[in-house]
Amino acid sequence: MRLLLVEDDSMLGSALQRVLQQESFAVDWVQDGDEAVLALNALPYDLVLLDLGLPGKCGLEILHGLRKRRASVPVIILTARDAVSDRIAGLDSGADDYMVKPFDPDELSARIRALLRRRDGRIEPLISFGPLTLNPATHELFIQEKPARLSLREFSLISILLERPGTAVSREKLEERLYGWNEEVESNAIEVHIHNLRKKLGTNLIRTIRGVGYLMEE
Ligand code: CA
Repeated sequence: MRLLLVEDDSMLGSALQRVLQQESFAVDWVQDGDEAVLALNALPYDLVLLDLGLPGKCGLEILHGLRKRRASVPVIILTARDAVSDRIAGLDSGADDYMVKPFDPDELSARIRALLRRRDGRIEPLISFGPLTLNPATHELFIQEKPARLSLREFSLISILLERPGTAVSREKLEERLYGWNEEVESNAIEVHIHNLRKKLGTNLIRTIRGVGYLMEE
């Protein structure tokens, strides 16, 4: 899952980027409103964390622009304690949630998971498919109740494939959602992850459709 973090405060921005990467998210971080607009026009992000007071375009303008072109990406605004009117304006402009600074990164992660769950139309916090159960909060995977150890990237990959089981996802799309723009990606990275995942799953749940991509199948 790939997030866009828009925050001009260097300390907060780099701390958030680090924490969210440890939560298995790919995180692109921009410190300027105009850069945020460029990034949002270029890539289909899974979620946006949006500070309101920014150099260049302000957060509310960015939000207006997004909703005007009917982009449905979930947005969490990050606001200061005394800015109640900003939070109201943000929610009324199409934000889905807000966090008041300073906040606990674990709470932010939980709110991100809740929004992604809603986006995907899931009611259960756990993701189940055939013999598999995934817990997005702990990054645990169980195969018929038995725990399997996945890397964060493998966990992310299988979560993406399970958003729409039976629908193929291309290698390019997977790459786009697994890696941020500051990360180096080996040309066969996805193939390697799929290979390792198949070994760990021990069953033939991931099918390759030649020239198209990968899909989950029972
Ligand atoms: Ca700011």
